[in-house]
Order: sequence, then C-alpha cells, then structure tokens
Amino acid sequence: MTGTVRSVLALGSNLGASNDTLVLAVADLVEPHRVRLHAVSPVVRTKPVGGPEQPDYLNMVIEVETDLGPYELLALCQAVEEKYHRKRTVRWGPRTLDIDIITYGSWTSDDVTLTIPHPRAAVRAFVLQPWAWMDSGARLNGRPVAELAAEAEDLAGLVPFEGV
Ligand code: AMP
Repeated sequence: MTGTVRSVLALGSNLGASNDTLVLAVADLVEPHRVRLHAVSPVVRTKPVGGPEQPDYLNMVIEVETDLGPYELLALCQAVEEKYHRKRTVRWGPRTLDIDIITYGSWTSDDVTLTIPHPRAAVRAFVLQPWAWMDSGARLNGRPVAELAAEAEDLAGLVPFEGV
C-alpha cells in the first residue's frame, strides 16, 4: 500500500461473550484489503469508569495500517459495532462492543463526529496500558503512553485478562 497511515483503535466490551466479540471484531476490522493489522495488545479486564453499576470490561487496542481516510475508518468501526448489536441506550452504560479511534497518524481533529486524538484516551488506563504493552515507545500528546498510563486514576482496576 502507498500513502498509508498507522492508526490506533481501542476496543471494549462488557456484555455477552466479550473475549470472543473482541477477537471477531479485530478480524472484521482488518478484513477490508485497505486495512492491515500491524500490532495487537494483550486483553485487559477493567472496572467500569462512570456510568451505572455494570460488569467489568475487557479492553484491548490494535494498530492498523490503512489507506482509508479517517471518516471512512470511523464508518468501518461503526459498522463493526453495529454487527455486534451495540446498544446505545444508556450513556456510558454496558455495551457489547465499543470501538474508538485513538490516533490517526499525526492527524488531529476537533470535530465532534471524529475527535482525534480521542479526547479521553490520555486519562484512561484501559486504553493507555494495553497500548504501552503493545508499543513501548508510543507517545500521545508529546508524552510517553506508559507514563500517562501510570498516572491514570483507573489503573488500579486493571488486570491482565486470564480467561473466563
Ligand atoms: P461513544 O458512545 O463513546 O462510542 O461515542 C460515539 C460517538 O462519538 C459517535 O457519534 C462518533 O461520531 C463520536 N466520536 C468522536 N470522536 C470519536 C473517535 N475518535 N472515535 C470514535 N468515535 C468518535
């Protein structure tokens, strides 16, 4: 591919067979020939941040290489979310699958439809810690992702996922 961009995507699930959903969603995200899988993080189990009482999440991040534009990539992420029947009824409520675009190359955007880097990523251990494990040299907003992860309030509720 020429003119490709590396993009970090964050996936989370806390309803249904979450580990299976994450695996299938990764396969779906890299199924189009214009998206290639570059790196995969470990899966982590995390305590929900905010929202109503709900089950723990499984979270992971992946890095893809793509020549899709950022909005095309967002449309792909939303199509994969829809495939797993994500319910959007309760804000920050339980969901079968959530996919966020964390970074898209060095591109930035303030658009509410697609804010890049993702506005909450820099303070969420469930994004930062798997990302740091996947790519020890990763940086976000000019800072090492591993350092940001160590400072994130939700880090205490994160453990490696060791199966069901
Ligand atoms: P959420 O419920 O957190 O998944 O938010 C979904 C909404 O966030 C959608 O309307 C998206 O258009 C919007 N959005 C803004 N920035 C992003 C991003 N970086 N990744 C995914 N969705 C985003």
